Amino acid sequence: MTTESKCELCQGDGGRLLFRSDKWRVVAVEGLEGESFPGFCRVVWNEHVRELTDLSAADRQEFMEAVFRVEAALRGSLNPHKMNIASLGNLTPHLHWHVIPRFADDPAFPKPIWAVTLSSASLDKLAVIKDRRPADGASWEQAVIRALE
Ligand SMILES: [Zn+2]
Repeated sequence: MTTESKCELCQGDGGRLLFRSDKWRVVAVEGLEGESFPGFCRVVWNEHVRELTDLSAADRQEFMEAVFRVEAALRGSLNPHKMNIASLGNLTPHLHWHVIPRFADDPAFPKPIWAVTLSSASLDKLAVIKDRRPADGASWEQAVIRALE
């Protein structure tokens, strides 16, 4: 398995681990980003691979299926206004997808989440957002794990 010593996604999970398969994992984003955007997950390829086209067709399909399952679970549990799905990796060139439920009252809406600097100025909205609970009472984390098992 290819790893790189300077890559944060090789050296750690990249968030709070929700599910791991042989080839990929799903983590919940932590810290101010995770608090600001409830349900924010990353789907990370376990091996240090740079681009989607470096994967075999079968692996690519499996990876994307994981992204779609996470998206569906987050939609079902959090009922967001919109889902944002992004693969950037300019700073960490290790394949990962950001799966981000967006809400009209989140600190960046309607901009991409990276278009704003999260700070104490955005914290006043967090109290409202943190109170958002999935309709069925289960946590969104549980919904994601169930969708992947
Ligand atoms: Zn890596």
